[in-house]
Amino acid sequence: MTDYHDILDTPIEYLKGVGPKRAEVFRKEFNIFTFRDLLHYYPYRHVDKSHIHHVSDIVEDGSYIQLRGRITGAQVMGQQRSKRLVAQFSDETGHIELVWFNGIKWVQDLLAQKQEFIIFGKPTLFNGRWNMTHPEMLDPQAKSDSPVPMGFLPLYNTSELAKKKTLDSKAVAKLTANLIPVVKDVIPELLPDEMLRNLNLMPLKEALCNIHYPENNQQLSRAVLRLKFDELFFLQLKMLMLKQINTKRIPGHRFEKVGHYFNTFYKEHLPFELTNAQKRVIREIRADVGSGRQMNRLLQGDVGSGKTIIALFTMLIAKDNGFQACLMAPTEILATQHFDKISKQLAPLGLRVEFLSGSTKTAKRRQILEGLQSGDVDILIGTHALIEDPVVFQNLGLVVIDEQHRFGVEQRARLWRKNAVPPHVLVMTATPIPRTLAMTLYGDLDVSVIDELPQGRKPIITRHLYEKDRLKLFGFMRKQIAEGRQVFVVYPLIRESEKSDLLDLMAGYEAIERDFPPPQYGIGVVHGKMKPEDKDLEMQRFAKNQSQILLSTTVIEVGIDIPNATVMVIENAERFGLSQLHQLRGRVGRGGNQSYCILMSKYELTSDGRKRLNAMVSTNDGFEIANIDLQLRGPGDIQGTQQSGMLDFKIADLAKDEKLVSYTRNLAIQILDDDPDLQKPEHYRLKAKVDELIRSEVNWSVIS
Ligand code: ADP
Ligand code: MG
Repeated sequence: MTDYHDILDTPIEYLKGVGPKRAEVFRKEFNIFTFRDLLHYYPYRHVDKSHIHHVSDIVEDGSYIQLRGRITGAQVMGQQRSKRLVAQFSDETGHIELVWFNGIKWVQDLLAQKQEFIIFGKPTLFNGRWNMTHPEMLDPQAKSDSPVPMGFLPLYNTSELAKKKTLDSKAVAKLTANLIPVVKDVIPELLPDEMLRNLNLMPLKEALCNIHYPENNQQLSRAVLRLKFDELFFLQLKMLMLKQINTKRIPGHRFEKVGHYFNTFYKEHLPFELTNAQKRVIREIRADVGSGRQMNRLLQGDVGSGKTIIALFTMLIAKDNGFQACLMAPTEILATQHFDKISKQLAPLGLRVEFLSGSTKTAKRRQILEGLQSGDVDILIGTHALIEDPVVFQNLGLVVIDEQHRFGVEQRARLWRKNAVPPHVLVMTATPIPRTLAMTLYGDLDVSVIDELPQGRKPIITRHLYEKDRLKLFGFMRKQIAEGRQVFVVYPLIRESEKSDLLDLMAGYEAIERDFPPPQYGIGVVHGKMKPEDKDLEMQRFAKNQSQILLSTTVIEVGIDIPNATVMVIENAERFGLSQLHQLRGRVGRGGNQSYCILMSKYELTSDGRKRLNAMVSTNDGFEIANIDLQLRGPGDIQGTQQSGMLDFKIADLAKDEKLVSYTRNLAIQILDDDPDLQKPEHYRLKAKVDELIRSEVNWSVIS
């Protein structure tokens, strides 16, 4: 007996036209093993073969088109490698050139037999003339012997190797054409019938046929919508189910009260008024840590929005309830700065705050470890050394992770394994993840957003300058320094060529030293190859305004807070990613003074490079920047998401499908509100699919 699973699970080898050799290529190059896999190998585009166009319709940036006309002449041109056959092709509206580099003999024979053709290809403009290389040549009179129907022709991604082994897009198209009649009637529906009706979605069976061979444009868009819907909806449903499972399974410390430490600090030591957004986030956190379940919260806020103070209040709540807290930062410099600031702020409260990093000396380390175990240390601040094995707390109640994207998922997971009752977790990120991404990636976390900057901040003025403007730049720096301000100058550091990057930095140093001679000016240098002590010393000098210019590689990217610095100069700005540029810019504009970000670049820029710099000049809004970044790079490149593989969508596009992401998320929430375990009979299809997804999930449930 055959049921549908058997057919969809059939090894690809047994599809008509495949066989063992092509099956091997399918497995190696496409990761396609079964009929099902090929069915879900969607074309990236279709070409419309249902229409015949005219030469006069050809437009620049156009796509593949089909023309009907006559060959009026053909010549072989060029020698050896540049040898090619050029033919003239005309219809009643104009003419274009057809070019072949390969198979010249074959084409010559063809042209000798006939003159009238339907040609198909992509016109390009070359030396002011339209031409088409290697067009497909069809005889308008001949009956098609290929199983590929006319109409919309699917184009598939293939690799060079696959093409060599005869699996080009056209071959794949023939195979999907063979496949569809075989599987058509056994494709199971995943959504409840009622949902299909209510949402007016195309049934999955039809969608999967139409995504390959649509009847018309409208059917194609409906198929695309249905498949995008499935990808996003089931991901959301899965993430929300996981979150439910976790919150049920993972109890948390109940922080019942806000007490002495919180109140004293709030009333007597808070150096400013909190913004409304900060107050709201603190309320959200209080509700969360008081609920008796483990908090897993992501705090998003643009650079300078004041996340640190939130961390501090949350740690005080932990303390008020008799628990220890720790704060982890991704770099030594940043951790040190947090430590300096927080220990100063908390000094009047009589709390013991310690610092731990890889460079903490053995004796000091032992002392701290003892203090943690005995409960004498209240708050621990440091780098990821905090989660290493010998660190044992007496009762750790809260972990704050700053700039989370530097911490791997694996590192987060370690915290869980170490503690019987896991601590509450607050992850802070200044990389404003676009909402769509946050909702998807952190669909199982709660998200708080600080969407308001402290009062009195002046928007940073951003300018893009070239090398010829350097004198102007130096003049401007001199003026700012004369007014008592300080300047960052940042050089890119790309790991593979650290040496030459360092040379850039040193050359820059010499140039600046010539124009800003000591003792009138102090210049500091910080780079990744320095010893932590030396780095620290330079940073301290700059923080105390003993140096006015700080040259550095991107080690200062995250977190550093020096309100008196008003100018951020970024050298070779075109080499930075957009979110990195925005992070760097966030190092200035932290005090009351007008601040500036100067992007230095060479003249010739790639189109993406120019778009990045233009984006920086045109907006200060981190979320807008993040969205542009997403559009330029695609979600696969957003930091911290590569390894997860979660965003490898086949068809959905987070940059474009923002609305569908929110829509499917809300829908998933509604369904689970009504039926948390998907027990209702009408939800059995959903449950089956989600169970399957959760089963195939590696480790996620341990992580958050
Ligand atoms: P980020 O969110 O980038 O970590 P920080 O927490 O470092 O930002 O805060 C940036 C600066 O703004 C710090 O100097 C901090 O003391 C200050 N700050 C934070 N909140 C407020 C506020 N409500 N009013 C005024 N200044 C604030
Ligand atoms: Mg910060």
